[in-house]
Parts: sequence; structure tokens; C-alpha cells
Amino acid sequence: MPQTRTTPATPTSQLPPQTVAITREDLPLFCPRDTAAAWSMHPRVYLPIEEAPDHQYTCPYCGTRYVLKEA
Ligand SMILES: [Zn+2]
Repeated sequence: MPQTRTTPATPTSQLPPQTVAITREDLPLFCPRDTAAAWSMHPRVYLPIEEAPDHQYTCPYCGTRYVLKEA
């Protein structure tokens, strides 16, 4: 069995996920949002953050972490 000594230089997927604070005025929450940067391009999905027990939701596509702030 050959020895694998692959050392990934810099994994591009190690970037810390961006955290975005939203308010109830931003509901319903979709990702990417209109103001989203180009790196987060993916099919627009609805994130039921108001149903999450801790009012936090991480987008399964781009990893953006949304936190619902009670205004
Ligand atoms: Zn997303």
C-alpha cells in the first residue's frame, strides 16, 4: 500500500464563515441576500431562522452564519 504523504498547502475551505446579524425586518431570510458578495453565489434558499431554537442558522450552501437579533 503506497504511503500517502500529501500535504495540502493551504486548504481554501478553511476560511472562517461569515456571521451576519439580521433583524425581524429582514424576514423571511433568504441566502444569498441582495447585498451578498459574489463569493456566496448559490441557488437562493429560504432559511427558517425564526424557527431555530437559538435563532441562529447556518446556510448549508455557503456557510454564512445568520444570527437573528431581537430588535
Ligand atoms: Zn448561503
